[in-house]
Amino acid sequence: MSGAVLLERERLTSGTTWHTAGLLWQLRPSDVEVELLAHTRRVVSRELEEETGLHTGWIQNGGLFIASNRQRLDEYKRLMSLGKAYGVESHVLSPAETKTLYPLMNVDDLYGTLYVPHDGTMDPAGTCSTLARAASARGAQVIENCPVTGIRVWTDDFGVRRVAGVETPHGSIQTPCVVNCAGVWASAVGRMAGVKVPLVAMHHAYVVTERIEGIQNMPNVRDHDASVYLRLQGDALSVGGYEANPIFWEEAVKSRTGAAGGLCLKTPTVKGCTVCSDGLRRA
Ligand SMILES: Cc1cc2nc3c(=O)[nH]c(=O)nc-3n(C[C@H](O)[C@H](O)[C@H](O)COP(=O)(O)OP(=O)(O)OC[C@H]3O[C@@H](n4cnc5c(N)ncnc54)[C@H](O)[C@@H]3O)c2cc1C
Repeated sequence: MSGAVLLERERLTSGTTWHTAGLLWQLRPSDVEVELLAHTRRVVSRELEEETGLHTGWIQNGGLFIASNRQRLDEYKRLMSLGKAYGVESHVLSPAETKTLYPLMNVDDLYGTLYVPHDGTMDPAGTCSTLARAASARGAQVIENCPVTGIRVWTDDFGVRRVAGVETPHGSIQTPCVVNCAGVWASAVGRMAGVKVPLVAMHHAYVVTERIEGIQNMPNVRDHDASVYLRLQGDALSVGGYEANPIFWEEAVKSRTGAAGGLCLKTPTVKGCTVCSDGLRRA
């Protein structure tokens, strides 16, 4: 870690991380993802806190996958088997058992659910500042309000382009190695070094409800068929999802307000947002 420098053009968390729901589901169809998620969960829920003495804000409220058809329930049964191989506790629940666990849920059209009690929610700001603290303690440097404006490259004797340094308005840093972690801006940073980053950003809508009595401590909910998630946010719900016909970044920025690192857009109507209405129907 010693010698590493993190350059942030604004403040840490001012990008997508500021908006994230922070849901951590341990069970995914790919074993690589299951192992990566287990690692992330270990770091966020335990190791970072042990190393820094700071709480990351991790909440273990559990996760619930909704099956609204037979195929989806079969898939969840397979996920449960995968979980057994990796030591991830999970249970396939009937609609009645789901109702007992989550009394506010509309279970009339459910075939069942997959419940993973040790899933949870990360606090994006807490996780990020704890990571920064741990990195600094190991010799890394975090510099905010310092945008990368250019990347100097040179071509070696074999015709391979190499990094020589990074330019900022406050000076340059000589380095043979750059890690591009600029999120939705990664393509722009890649272009500075002549590298094409195959990444397309799109508009993502979510709504936060007012206080809902009885929602406290309920698990996070994911409905893969409706493409929505319900995240517990204190005593309210944050409902978000993925539209079938997404609006791409270029179109979305035409209506942006400029807040929160340029990522906040004008509030969409819930009427026009199918994932939000699907999600609210479930709660
Ligand atoms: C509404 C929403 C819900 C989500 N829910 C989940 C979820 O439940 N679970 C999950 O795992 N993921 C979720 N995600 C995805 C997750 O938030 C992102 O994958 C993650 O935050 C990306 O982090 P990052 O550090 O790669 O990017 P970012 O947080 O965007 O960080 C990139 C940083 O680069 C900086 N930057 C840009 N250009 C430059 C430059 N030229 N010089 C210096 N700095 C620069 C930006 O200011 C920014 O701070 C969600 C995302 C959204 C929007």
